[in-house]
Amino acid sequence: MNIHEYQGKEVLKQYGVAVPEGKVAFTVEDAVAAAQALGTPVVVVKAQIHAGGRGKAGGVKVAKGLDEVRKYAGEILGKTLVTHQTGPEGKEVKRLLIEQGCDIKKEYYIGVVVDRATGRVVMMGSEEGGTEIEEVAEHSPEKIFKEIIDPVVGLQPFQARRLAFNINIPSELVNKAVGFMTALYAAFTDKDCSIAEINPLVVTGDGNVMALDAKLNFDSNALYRHKDILELRDLDEEDQREIQASKFDLSYIALDGNIGCMVNGAGLAMATMDIIKYYGGNPANFLDVGGGATTEKVTEAFKIILSDENVKGIFVNIFGGIMRCDVIADGVVEAAKQLGLTKPLVVRLEGTNVDLGKKILNESGLNIVAADSMSDGAQKIVELVK
Ligand code: ADP
Ligand code: MG
Repeated sequence: MNIHEYQGKEVLKQYGVAVPEGKVAFTVEDAVAAAQALGTPVVVVKAQIHAGGRGKAGGVKVAKGLDEVRKYAGEILGKTLVTHQTGPEGKEVKRLLIEQGCDIKKEYYIGVVVDRATGRVVMMGSEEGGTEIEEVAEHSPEKIFKEIIDPVVGLQPFQARRLAFNINIPSELVNKAVGFMTALYAAFTDKDCSIAEINPLVVTGDGNVMALDAKLNFDSNALYRHKDILELRDLDEEDQREIQASKFDLSYIALDGNIGCMVNGAGLAMATMDIIKYYGGNPANFLDVGGGATTEKVTEAFKIILSDENVKGIFVNIFGGIMRCDVIADGVVEAAKQLGLTKPLVVRLEGTNVDLGKKILNESGLNIVAADSMSDGAQKIVELVK
């Protein structure tokens, strides 16, 4: 789960990570009042969306005085920001962070991630802050330094010092940087984060080390023990179909292709996406209806797939083990009737009650193309949506 920058900074602050003073604003008036309350000569107006790259896209503005705050807040609120992380459709800005202007001497990068290769938490640092870390990784990987953290003892002071020296934090500020990294690591582990990215971490004119940006991601499987974090969820930032799917306990992830997929089991769902690609098509979603799906659940899944305007055809690929083929067939028929399905539908059923399932589909009066195998089905749907 993602949260906004201003929320991330509040979480980090609880652990002693230094951040600038700031306030969230939902309206232009809020923004002006927030700037007035901060009382600093320079404030920064920052778009709050769940995506980075806002600066380049015009979502971060330095304002000198309340008139400029009013002007920028008016410009940014309600605007659809398109950054390299939002996709071409962009994201509408509904919240702003009004933050004290910071006298930046130099920008650095610090990121904490769960590293699959080592199976450990890794803290990364670079003196190339402010820019996209992916670009640094590509063009000057030698400028990224890593510390692999032992989960039993946590981030050791010598590791934090080594990282601070490697990224050329001024020597008189190394102790502050070590304190910063230690607090960041504590927040990361305590809140079950999967990513904590500070880009930029800055050294200021008056000799402080602080987080100017904060991106925190949380492991969804651990959210049950972080009620405070769960409250920070912003449904506006999430895909509406994914929210609907989660209400019915369906594992659904929207993708940008045009073939809707309804599959049971995550492995089969992945394989189905692969085989569609293999035959030259593009899946519109990942959808695992799970093992014990009911007719109602299958109907809902079908509705979610069809609510995506990009979907030109649907491929149902079910191996009925625990899941029964007749239940799937009932759901497909029910949903198709409710929604007046006109798009091509290819169904491949195999397993428990397969004959009954096929009978239900055949007698439904729907225009269904039956497939003999997974590859047969994939080829048929790819052909039909062309
Ligand atoms: P994004 O990563 O989405 O572009 P950031 O929060 O990193 O957004 O802001 C982009 C840039 O704007 C920063 O690299 C920094 O140079 C500047 N900036 C952000 N917040 C402040 C602030 N409070 N004071 C001064 N400059 C800031
Ligand atoms: Mg940033």
